[in-house]
Amino acid sequence: TYVVTDNCIACKYTDCVEVCPVDCFYEGENMLVIHPDECIDCGVCEPECPADAIRPDTEPDMDAWVEFNRKYAEIW
Ligand code: SF4
Repeated sequence: TYVVTDNCIACKYTDCVEVCPVDCFYEGENMLVIHPDECIDCGVCEPECPADAIRPDTEPDMDAWVEFNRKYAEIW
């Protein structure tokens, strides 16, 4: 899965939302998140993010971000 990380806070360009083929972005007041169970790992959103906030969970230390994205995707 891909997840949204802290560079998104207060940024909120929505270029990523527009390209996602499965509509798995969720929008809060200050940032976006990706639902990790809905993301199909296509990667098309990553280069669209001007803040470099969207990262694959294969990078080190991403577990907390995956849980953060899941938690807020379900709330929002
Ligand atoms: Fe959507 Fe693909 Fe990005 Fe996952 S990797 S959030 S499916 S655009």
